Amino acid sequence: MKKVAVIGSGTMGNGIAHVFAQNGFPVSLIDISEEALQKAVGTISKNLDRIISKGNLTEEQKEQTLQNITTYTTMQEGVQEVDLVVEAATENIDLKLKIFRDLNSFTKPETILASNTSSISITKIASVTDRPDKVIGMHFMNPVPVMKLVEVIRGYSTSDEVTNKILELSKQLGKVPAEANDYPGFVANRILMPMINEAIYSLYEGVAGVEEIDTIMKLGMAHPMGPLQLADFIGLDVCLSILNVLHEGFGNPKYAPCPLLVNMVQAGHKGIKSGNGFYSWSHGTKELVVADRFKK
Ligand code: NAD
Repeated sequence: MKKVAVIGSGTMGNGIAHVFAQNGFPVSLIDISEEALQKAVGTISKNLDRIISKGNLTEEQKEQTLQNITTYTTMQEGVQEVDLVVEAATENIDLKLKIFRDLNSFTKPETILASNTSSISITKIASVTDRPDKVIGMHFMNPVPVMKLVEVIRGYSTSDEVTNKILELSKQLGKVPAEANDYPGFVANRILMPMINEAIYSLYEGVAGVEEIDTIMKLGMAHPMGPLQLADFIGLDVCLSILNVLHEGFGNPKYAPCPLLVNMVQAGHKGIKSGNGFYSWSHGTKELVVADRFKK
């Protein structure tokens, strides 16, 4: 694997491009928005400075990393010569199907097509290409340069050869890959989202308050942050859409999203991104302030 393209330069795309570029891969970073691309390069540069300040990178290595990244606002030009594409565009099934149809025509037939989707079926994405054996899930965690895990998801038709290449490549990037089959939510979100949903139910049913729920899970289970704070970080709209995928995919009522979560998303309270969720984020992330609505 020599050249890589990353589609989408948002939260995940810039992190994925960063990690490949820092490990010596020439990367085409592609987004429909020039503004998003500029922001991504700025974020990567700041994140590299943070690594330098910890003594884990030199100024020359930073420059080399940035030089490895070329940005494009159209897909065709950026993907022609690459051996791997990692798609990290907005989580929307119609958009992803369109991107994979285009990738199928614009890339070399042997190019591996990976998606960083949190919840959309890899098998479904693969079905719009004529190379389903070369379509795979490469689910990085946020923030990508820091988090070690890559959940590698095999679609129904993904070949052993392609899976092994992606497992090896993930190790080459300094990550720890773990393989999962393609069923709703894969492993990470199938286990995480019901926990978050249950935390929201505990609040909704008045079992405990926001701080108590998070303190119990943090100190009792040694989780680095409580489930309600984590939901604010992930985005409540994202949590809701993943729960809907689990609910529809399995047809099991145990995955039904809590009505409080549905209401909060409908009211525009989406967590950090909207400034308000279970906590109020206008105070900065250091001091946790329970949102007014949930104060005792
Ligand atoms: P984001 O909204 O931050 O970024 C998405 C980017 O995709 C935007 O910059 C947008 O302009 C771009 N885009 C939209 N349509 C495009 C197109 N046709 N071609 C190229 N670029 C296009 O989203 P994100 O949080 O980075 O999520 C990206 C993917 O990663 C999603 O599939 C999401 O489920 C997955 N994911 C997210 C997280 C997370 O914590 N945010 C974690 C794991 C996986």
